[in-house]
Formats: sequence, structure tokens, C-alpha cells
Amino acid sequence: MDQKKYLSSDELLEKIFYYMSKLFEEKELSKTLFLLTDLGKTLVNSDRASFWFWDKRKHVAWTLAALGIDTITIPENKGLVGAAMMGNEILIINNPYEDPRFNPDVDKNSGYHTKSILTMPVTNSDGDVIGAYQAVNKINTDGSEGIFTEEDVKRLSLATAFCGRSLESYVLHNEAIEDPLTGLRNRRGLHSYYERRIVTNKNFDKASIIMCDIDHFKRVNDTYGHNAGDEVLKHVANTLSNSIGIDDGAFRWGGEEFILLLSHREKKETAEFAEELRKAIEADVITFEGTDIKITMSFGVSDIDPALTTEENVEGVDAKLYYAKEHGRNRVISDIAE
Ligand code: GH3
Ligand code: MG
Ligand code: MG
Repeated sequence: MDQKKYLSSDELLEKIFYYMSKLFEEKELSKTLFLLTDLGKTLVNSDRASFWFWDKRKHVAWTLAALGIDTITIPENKGLVGAAMMGNEILIINNPYEDPRFNPDVDKNSGYHTKSILTMPVTNSDGDVIGAYQAVNKINTDGSEGIFTEEDVKRLSLATAFCGRSLESYVLHNEAIEDPLTGLRNRRGLHSYYERRIVTNKNFDKASIIMCDIDHFKRVNDTYGHNAGDEVLKHVANTLSNSIGIDDGAFRWGGEEFILLLSHREKKETAEFAEELRKAIEADVITFEGTDIKITMSFGVSDIDPALTTEENVEGVDAKLYYAKEHGRNRVISDIAE
């Protein structure tokens, strides 16, 4: 068996540089956290490692990049992760089964045997705890079972600092590209999605765009109130995002205007899809505080030309949406009649 060694200072530096160069290249959070988790595991020489997010709104912690184990969600106040996060405390536990804070459920469910755990809170640049990093089962230089020490804390703090900053910038970025009312990505989100998924992906030759707008939405607000209008927007956003596939994107372009970017679909297919959406929205009844509201939407459909900018593609499909509005609303336009 390949015995893992405790790294010397030179080896350690080499590893850090290796991970840093990879990290700077990596744009995706899940892969970044995976690398950081792997770095921490390497630095302390543990059998397993995981990085936990603290979702303070839902009162849970969950792991995205657990190495060697599946994704797990736990209540925020449970186990050593909970204790480290809520108490903002580093926990070195070399006898977990004797510690009342240890949650043995994970072992029970997975058949794994936890012998030593190092759990460290992860903080953002304001010093607020935003998650926890956990290394499990220390391995000695000779491959035998070990215990975690202050030396491991020092080494792991490097990985946790990077984890904290990566997560923080990810959260800030997400807030900037997400529409808080509907949860869809906003205009900025569409731009970055377009750059990332369409311009840089040479195989994206078959992609199309739908732009749609609620008909006479002002009347909804005027008749039922602004809160009812918000409910209608959320309903439309849900309908749109539930109708698309994993490779597609749904965006709130403006007030009551939405865009769908659809991969692997040409205009004809997309126009049929838009027609289904139009019918579904027309048939839906939205109930707000006991009142039933019905709406319709108008749709423009185009192929995406990856050689054009986002704006240019949007302008093209906007012209079709405008045509739909001018010609009676509640319809799908994919070709403008001369
Ligand atoms: P058309 O069929 O031509 O699209 O008519 P319309 O009434 O839908 O279009 P118009 O542009 O005249 O009105 C859009 C309205 O959408 C006006 C604005 O107050 C409302 N609106 C924009 N954002 C929001 C929002 O976040 N919540 C609510 N409730 N209303 C919004
Ligand atoms: Mg409208
Ligand atoms: Mg509009």
C-alpha cells in the first residue's frame, strides 16, 4: 500500500504552489472547494476532509466537497461541525465517541469509523463564521493511526482561510447576479451566463432564445395591488424555470420581462416550446389572498448567433416580442412577416 507521509516543509511548499496555480485557473466554486478540501487533507494528512457551508436562513450546514463521502445536510446545532460553527471554536477531538458533541449518525449510516477529528470554523473577511472545515482520521508518517495536534491546526488554517475567501466571493457574486424577488438570475447573470456558456463553448451551435413579457401587467398591479403583481411575477418565474432543462437558463431581464436561453434547440423547436408555455400560462390561475388572477404573455423566439453580443441577440428577439405585442399579444412570434 502507498503509505502517506507527513510532508516536509519543502514538499509542503510544493503542494501549496501546485494547488494555488490550479485554484487561480478555476472559476467554478464547486471545483475550487474541492481543490481546497483536497489541499487541507494533504496538509494535515487525514483520511477524509470536508468543507461545510452554514446556511443560517435554513439553520443547516451542508457539504458540497466532501472527499470520499456523499453530500450530507445536518442541523446547524448538531455534532462537532455545529459546535465549531456556533461557538466559533477550533475543536481537536481524538476520542470522538467519548465526546457528547460528536454525532455518530454519519458513521452509523456509512459504516465508517471515526477515530480523530479536527474541526475548524471558516470565517469571512468580517470575521463572521460562514462554515466549517473538518479533517477526519489523522494518519501518521508511518501510515498508522494518529491524533490531531496544534501543528495540524496551523497547517489547516491555511486551507480554511482560502475556503472562507472563496466562499465569500462566491456568495457576493451570486447576490449580484440574482434577482431577489423571483430567484432567477438577473440581467448581469444573463451576461455572464452567455459569456461562459455560449461564447466560449464552440459546440454551442444550436442555441435559441425566448423573450417573453406579461401582457397588460400594469393592469394587474392597478387592479389587485403591487403585492399581487409580485406574486404573479414569482409564479411566471417558477413556471419558466420548471419548464427548462439543466443546460438551459432562465433570467429576469426587467420588470415583467423574462428571457430563456435554450441549448440544443433550434428556432422551430423553441417556437413550439414557447407555444406550450404560452398555453400553460394562459390556463393557469394564480391565487393571491383569495383572489384568482389570470394573465397571458407574449413571446419572441430567435436562434442565438454566438458571433453576436448578448445585447445584439436580445435586440433581435425583442423585435419579435414587440411584433407579438403589436399584433394582439398572447402569441408567439418566431418570424416577422414582411
Ligand atoms: P404590455 O402588454 O404592453 O407589456 O403592457 P404592460 O402593462 O405589461 O407594460 P408596461 O411596461 O406598461 O407596465 C409594466 C409594469 O410592470 C409597470 C411596473 O410598475 C410593473 N412592474 C415592474 N417591476 C415590477 C415588480 O417587481 N413588481 C410589480 N408588482 N410590478 C412591477
Ligand atoms: Mg408587459
Ligand atoms: Mg415590459
